[in-house]
Amino acid sequence: MKLDKLIEKLSPRLSHRSLIAMIVILSVAIIALLGIIFRNDVILPLSSLTSHSEDSNVASMPPLVVIDPGHGGSEPGAGSGSINEKEITLAISLEVEKILNEKNIDNILTRSNDTAVSLEDRAKLANEKKSTLFISIHNNSFTDPASHGVLTTYNPYSPIGKSNAEIMQSKLKTLGMYNRKIVPRPNLYVLRHTKMPSLLLEIGFISNKNDLKLLTSSDFQKKCAIQIVKGIEEILETNATASSESSSEV
Ligand SMILES: [Zn+2]
Repeated sequence: MKLDKLIEKLSPRLSHRSLIAMIVILSVAIIALLGIIFRNDVILPLSSLTSHSEDSNVASMPPLVVIDPGHGGSEPGAGSGSINEKEITLAISLEVEKILNEKNIDNILTRSNDTAVSLEDRAKLANEKKSTLFISIHNNSFTDPASHGVLTTYNPYSPIGKSNAEIMQSKLKTLGMYNRKIVPRPNLYVLRHTKMPSLLLEIGFISNKNDLKLLTSSDFQKKCAIQIVKGIEEILETNATASSESSSEV
């Protein structure tokens, strides 16, 4: 039969083709498997070098807080007579540092003495250190000496800027100063150029007599630092919980 002969002739070819096909499939499978092993070997260690914001394990890393005393050196900030903003912001910041150290919360100050530090260098330091939180400390001033009170400013483009500001202001409003609440400030350099959550605190008005009296009191400066640290702790806790919840959803 012609058909039988044809099958006989074709069958060795068919089995040969099947063998080649199997070898090709096996090769592809081996290459794919090697690819997975290679990825695990190479990419996993690199993931530990990614920044805080990109790292899903951020919640398990110890937080690092950057405290930024406003002004310094040749830039005194707001002033009233012989009193300058740069001295008050540094005094409060040093108290904050002391409490953070007592609580074993890692921290860095952008300046710890009377030196001028550019806004660029302040943001750069926080970014390079991949800090968890950036808190800039300032005092307000206005032409109207009646203006007074404490407020927290935040970057409105940050998804958690407002909620962090609300937490911080809930602590600062207990200081006995007028509560000016929270204020979005989209153009503040240090808020815009820091890659981590950041806040800028305007603690009282140097141009207001009553606020100035508080600001120059070491007792008030210590009380203020206690409230700032309370705010920092609650923000770190809230953000870490939110971060672990969002990573567990993935
Ligand atoms: Zn200032």
